[in-house]
Amino acid sequence: MHEYSLACEIFETVIETADKNKAIAVNSITLEIGGLTHVSPEQLLFCLDVLSRNSIAEGAKVNVNFVPPSGECECGYRGDAGVPDKLRDEDQPSLYEYAIQTCPVCGKLLQLLGGDELMIRTIDIEI
Ligand SMILES: [Zn+2]
Repeated sequence: MHEYSLACEIFETVIETADKNKAIAVNSITLEIGGLTHVSPEQLLFCLDVLSRNSIAEGAKVNVNFVPPSGECECGYRGDAGVPDKLRDEDQPSLYEYAIQTCPVCGKLLQLLGGDELMIRTIDIEI
């Protein structure tokens, strides 16, 4: 499962950081997930919860920020490629739906620039 391996990587980084700083507990973790990653946040949070049991990170609050993909157009527009309204309630928008994003200025197809990153923004620890 994709989410499980991602959760393992995140968990390892969190534990390493906590160890390095001689933390006694991890209060919260903030993740940034690009809109094109196809990661289910529910599954990711579930895996992190399971992994952190009996560890220093047990009970840490995990915040997830979604980063919309950005796009570029031949007319010079560069910015947020946005998320179509109809997809806002779905936790796994499809790559195809993003790929047909059009330029808000001229209406041409946008060249997507990003949105497939998953990173740890902050780790809040108790020292
Ligand atoms: Zn344009």
